[in-house]
Amino acid sequence: MQAFFDTDQLLHDPQQFMRLGRICHPTDVPDRAHALIAAVQQCGGSVNPPRDWGVEHLHLVHSADYIRYLSTAYTRWQALADVGKNPGIEVLPNLSPYSGVVPGERRVPCRTDSLVAQTGFYLGDLSCPLGPQSWRSILRSAHSAASAAQAVLDGASMAYALCRPSGHHAHHDRASGFCYVNNAALAAQMLAQQGGKVAVLDVDAHHGDGTQNIFYARGDVLTVSTHADTHDYFPFYTGYADETGSGDGLGCNLNLPLAHGSTTADFLPALDTAIERIARFAPSAVVLSIGFDTYRDDPISVLRFDFDAYQHVGERLRALGLPLVVVQEGGYMVEALGPGLTALMRGLQDADANTF
Ligand SMILES: [Zn+2]
Repeated sequence: MQAFFDTDQLLHDPQQFMRLGRICHPTDVPDRAHALIAAVQQCGGSVNPPRDWGVEHLHLVHSADYIRYLSTAYTRWQALADVGKNPGIEVLPNLSPYSGVVPGERRVPCRTDSLVAQTGFYLGDLSCPLGPQSWRSILRSAHSAASAAQAVLDGASMAYALCRPSGHHAHHDRASGFCYVNNAALAAQMLAQQGGKVAVLDVDAHHGDGTQNIFYARGDVLTVSTHADTHDYFPFYTGYADETGSGDGLGCNLNLPLAHGSTTADFLPALDTAIERIARFAPSAVVLSIGFDTYRDDPISVLRFDFDAYQHVGERLRALGLPLVVVQEGGYMVEALGPGLTALMRGLQDADANTF
């Protein structure tokens, strides 16, 4: 399997910590990528830099004004110091405009050039700071996903996009949950543009709300997400079983929330339901959003999976026999990322030891 990653993706270094009651924990640290690279190499794979797809390629799934904001906000923020204000080391919002969180809804575009207003509009929460090098990492992470999708379009049976930052909480014009550009949606859109139906399976601990939202009214892209019940877990506002799609996409979104504390054994029936739905949809390719924050010792996990869970995911996808783009999402226990990815690859490779 071909794997894609650019060293620029290490540059994003958020200074925010995730507060969990009395515990404060770092989350999207650059070491996550080092652990995943090592796992790819241990599996006998090589990690290749993605090709340069440019900035406009991201407009396939995001509004042009949002991408323009992401690419310029840090420089504009620092310029505030010129008028005697302390901008802080990272761009962060202090506004939260109400946007009507209806699944699939597109917002009225931001109507002002005010940087403060735009930051509130485009950065959905405090887990999405923009530091001096964030944009470079965001862009190259998206390019890794695009290159993995292209590898599959060129005939590879599988490709792995080592995306950092992650993407599945990124909406059409809004960052949230450590995510800025929706890498999995970008890969899925590239595959769908070739005329085939595409399924996205998201098995991160968190609901793939951005991916759901981007494709909610589309009949050619099925989105399926297994995740911890969102009544008391990010992203809270979506991820419920009654969100099934709208318009042409009615019936093309499936949410399978899991009770907090669910183990691998509790996960398997939901995984089987997901795979069954994908098989019935008969896509020409599948995008897997893989997150290892389902692991039982992950610092922000409310699920209790062991590594076998990821091998099961791999085995069931292999049994589908469809071209596959694997896109990295969450996972914040650095020591668990390598074993998690190795278990997934073991499941995907069982029939063909030389797949990687
Ligand atoms: Zn997650």
